[in-house]
Amino acid sequence: MNAEQFYPLFLKAEKVTIDSRKINANDIFFAFSGDNFNAATLAEKAIKDGALAVIVEDESFENSDQNIFYVASTLEFLQNLAVYHRNQLQIPIIGLTGSNGKTTTKELIHAVLLQKFNVQYTHGNLNNHIGVPLTILSIKEEHDIAVIEMGANHQKEIELLCSLAKPDFGYITNFGKAHLEGFGGIEGVIKGKSELYDYLKNNQQTILVNENDQIQVEKTTDYHSKITFGKQTSDYFFQIFSDEHFVGLEYHETKALSQLTGDYNFTNLCAAASFGLHFGVGIAQIKDAIQNYMPTNMRSQIVKKEDKTLVLDTYNANPSSMAASLYNFITFEGSKTIIIGDMLELGEESTVEHQNIIKIAHDLGFNEIVTVGRHFKAVNDSSKSFDTTAELIEYLNSNKIQSENILLKASRGISLEKAIDFI
Ligand code: ATP
Ligand code: MG
Repeated sequence: MNAEQFYPLFLKAEKVTIDSRKINANDIFFAFSGDNFNAATLAEKAIKDGALAVIVEDESFENSDQNIFYVASTLEFLQNLAVYHRNQLQIPIIGLTGSNGKTTTKELIHAVLLQKFNVQYTHGNLNNHIGVPLTILSIKEEHDIAVIEMGANHQKEIELLCSLAKPDFGYITNFGKAHLEGFGGIEGVIKGKSELYDYLKNNQQTILVNENDQIQVEKTTDYHSKITFGKQTSDYFFQIFSDEHFVGLEYHETKALSQLTGDYNFTNLCAAASFGLHFGVGIAQIKDAIQNYMPTNMRSQIVKKEDKTLVLDTYNANPSSMAASLYNFITFEGSKTIIIGDMLELGEESTVEHQNIIKIAHDLGFNEIVTVGRHFKAVNDSSKSFDTTAELIEYLNSNKIQSENILLKASRGISLEKAIDFI
């Protein structure tokens, strides 16, 4: 059975899922084996739950239920089906990658375009070789446009994701120090992320360029189809403004203040507004979208707790976003404590990068510096350096943080958000 043969059944399905907890009648279930479960058990469950079709690759699994389809590779079949579906879709697809700010930018673009269109977009952070096909397969006839986040931590990954999503428009948020290990340094990051540019160029599609980003400008000089922002001479020019905590953009006479903190989010706002203007969303509607977008996902989120202001940025961290976060936080009025956790996946550059962040933190002069994780501990000889979030929590149980403002930022693996309730 190939994707084309299966396609009519797909069109009848409500949704495609790989999560056995989320199967409803009329769904298509792809059974992937995991560490704690095997595909055959999941397939049995899916049938009981009334799945319209179940895809398995395990030949030893004997079940002749007519809703079960055996394939050589579940992953390959999922990707092939996504490509087949993509080829039937007549709508524009925006592909996004970059080191920092993909999800935030994706959500902002979604919010802006939603003012005028029925938009499908990557849910959560489903941005890899499984998440991208699932997102493509979630696009229905009623959608006018889709925004797809593409993540990568090594070369050729974006190339693969482009071959699945076939974006008509693309944007690389930035080239930063993320996943240095897998990419092989910053040059590797630039090369890997630029696979999106290569795809768009080879297929005569359109790229959004931030003209304040030298690498973006250089990488796209010989492009014929560009939308630009960042400079007065760009297609769209926005000015930054901010209040005490939040950043906003100004376009002609319109000022839109977001609920995001950090100047770096200005760029994310600009990208979303540029796509909005390009697709004919009015500036008043763009303003509505920007003002109402509420980060809830521990990305640059501000939370008031009693008399304290917390900046929750525990979703992720790497050297670029950590530094950006510290420079932003130092501008807050009043006393400031930073609780920063290890930046993971940095390979041999890890020690230097952690040292560098500690230096920046000391130079900026925060009232209190607390670190979590062994990488920071190794380069910061302090009684307030903890190995784990659990150790930090133990400390917080008997020591109250005095500062009026507290920043929490770390890589996902540190689970720093667990400490929030103890502050
Ligand atoms: P992931 O690789 O986990 O998918 P992502 O690229 O989707 O990450 P976000 O989840 O949007 O990124 O943001 C993660 C963090 O990166 C934010 O909380 C913020 O600290 C930082 N960040 C967001 N936008 C930028 C930007 N334009 N430049 C630098 N740092 C940013
Ligand atoms: Mg993301």
